[in-house]
Amino acid sequence: MKIHQSEFIISAVGPDQYPDDALPEFALAGRSNVGKSSLINKLIQRKNLARTSSQPGKTQQLNYYRINDEIYFVDFPGYGYAKVSKSERQKWGKMIEAYLLNREPLKAVLLVLDIRHAPSKDDQLMYDWMLHFNIPCIIVATKADKISKNKWGAHVRQIEQTIGRRKQDPLVLFSSESGMGRDELWDVIQSFYKQ
Ligand code: GDP
Repeated sequence: MKIHQSEFIISAVGPDQYPDDALPEFALAGRSNVGKSSLINKLIQRKNLARTSSQPGKTQQLNYYRINDEIYFVDFPGYGYAKVSKSERQKWGKMIEAYLLNREPLKAVLLVLDIRHAPSKDDQLMYDWMLHFNIPCIIVATKADKISKNKWGAHVRQIEQTIGRRKQDPLVLFSSESGMGRDELWDVIQSFYKQ
């Protein structure tokens, strides 16, 4: 997709701050440091719009980015950061659950995973939410440049088996370093909101 505009809109702390123009939304979920900000920046061809290494303290905000006045990316706070307190974690869970349950413009969640590692317990819980709420999910296996090509297949199978991937949920290999998977991921995203 050709990007002619991308803009940070708001760090929303609650539903009253979510945009009300009903553009399709794509949320991004993944553990801290998995490469979520790098992936957003790569998709929109900006070096630094999404903050890389989002501060672990900011567990309460959904960062909204508007792309081409056409869709929003909604960046969830990264999870799995050890130093976050239990009460912060609970607040995080409530905020994300409320969003997933009620957000009508949400088209799909991009679950961002590191291709090198088996999905964590938190990754599995996140995917289980998608199953439970029946929300389409695009699984992105990022950092593909970090392992050799001949290992991709085995790592992808491990991811699929660990989370129990539904057939209809696409999986895309990605690298923010090389740009691999960028065009494919845009095609997949567009297939969820364009006729
Ligand atoms: P976030 O916390 O999920 O937003 O993760 P970041 O986007 O800040 O990335 C965490 C680290 O991984 C940074 O040092 C990035 O440069 C690096 N990184 C992210 N994506 C890739 C990738 O596809 N390939 C490689 N080699 N490094 C990556």
